[in-house]
Amino acid sequence: MSAPGPKLHSKLPQVETSIFTTMGKLAVKHKAINLSQGFPNFKPDPVLLDLVSRAMDDGYNQYAPMQGIFSLRETISEKIASLYGKRYHPESEITVTAGATQAIFTIITAFIRSGDEVIVFKPAYDCYEPAIQINGGVPVFQQLNDSDFRVDWEAFQQAISPKTKMVIINTPHNPSGTLLMAEDMLRLQEILKNTDIIVISDEVYEHIVFDGNTHESVAKYSDLASRSFICASFGKTFHATGWKMGYCAAPAALMVEFQRTHEFNVFCVNHPVQRALNQYLKTPEHYLGLNRFYQEKRDFFLEALRDSRFEPIPSKGTYFQLLDYSNITEESDIAFAKRLTIDHGVASIPISAFNVDGKDNKVLRFCFAKTKDTLERATAILCGI
Ligand code: PMP
Ligand code: GLN
Repeated sequence: MSAPGPKLHSKLPQVETSIFTTMGKLAVKHKAINLSQGFPNFKPDPVLLDLVSRAMDDGYNQYAPMQGIFSLRETISEKIASLYGKRYHPESEITVTAGATQAIFTIITAFIRSGDEVIVFKPAYDCYEPAIQINGGVPVFQQLNDSDFRVDWEAFQQAISPKTKMVIINTPHNPSGTLLMAEDMLRLQEILKNTDIIVISDEVYEHIVFDGNTHESVAKYSDLASRSFICASFGKTFHATGWKMGYCAAPAALMVEFQRTHEFNVFCVNHPVQRALNQYLKTPEHYLGLNRFYQEKRDFFLEALRDSRFEPIPSKGTYFQLLDYSNITEESDIAFAKRLTIDHGVASIPISAFNVDGKDNKVLRFCFAKTKDTLERATAILCGI
């Protein structure tokens, strides 16, 4: 007898449990130090926590406006203008979202129709592809260079077809920790000139850039900005990934379309947190200090691994460090990541999960957004492997 209930025909049959959930659960089960999913194991600034409590006490507990509270949009507009020299109008060009994920899903839903192609560079963060597919779009993958994760712009140009509707870029890049440099942005701008291609620029790690490099926001390139959505995450910037707060910015004509979908997706997002973020963002040191804060953690992590058999691949931004383990074993990255968690007590993310056809280069991703004590314990274990 068949099971009761409707017969189902999944819209995303190929989607399985995410690698973050898989490795996170394994870490909990085996009481491993969890350097897999990207989140800090320390609290947000108490000043920010107080601001949130105060906003709730002050009665900001009902719906916010659809686009986000105006004062926060003004503050975001100021921030982008002071950092990247482009002013997005707070009335018509900024929307506060439930994290970058909701912004990305909403952009794709607002613009992608059946058969539209979206170019995605791999390895890629995992939320892009299902959002494209559930909207009937076709992801067109371009694998980044294995050694330094640079984009092959010739190949990118070749990948553009009359069906290309969108391209997704991500700098600083998760999982590799590489950056798009000014020459990359200029090249992209040039290639897209005279096309109708829309860009999603995933800039959630904009404030985590190391070694004196600068973050190349699309906002700095006027022609590129005219076709782009910038997606940002307060979760990443303020050590509060569980709040799921972010925003996106784009020229008014694009933002109108975005809001047509956003309005019936969430309508609006967490009101008291918006009040708090608006106050907190008024002190730029709250985000400008992040580069140094995380660079110290990266350097501590790398120094502690100096005598290990893992080979680091330079991380220029994000709070992730890739380690090549090919000196240690020939196991697949998934098998090795699981063994490292179960037998040795350190959880990481196997990079094949983000590559075209699960390409396995024997590289694991470790999140170093952790206290010194946690990083000390984890690196002591990794040095013994
Ligand atoms: N893009 C990238 C590259 C990410 O690493 C993440 C994970 N935080 C997101 C988007 C999603 O951000 P949020 O948690 O704000 O939805
Ligand atoms: N952005 C986080 C990471 O890359 C994961 C968030 C999630 O689990 N979807 O680790």
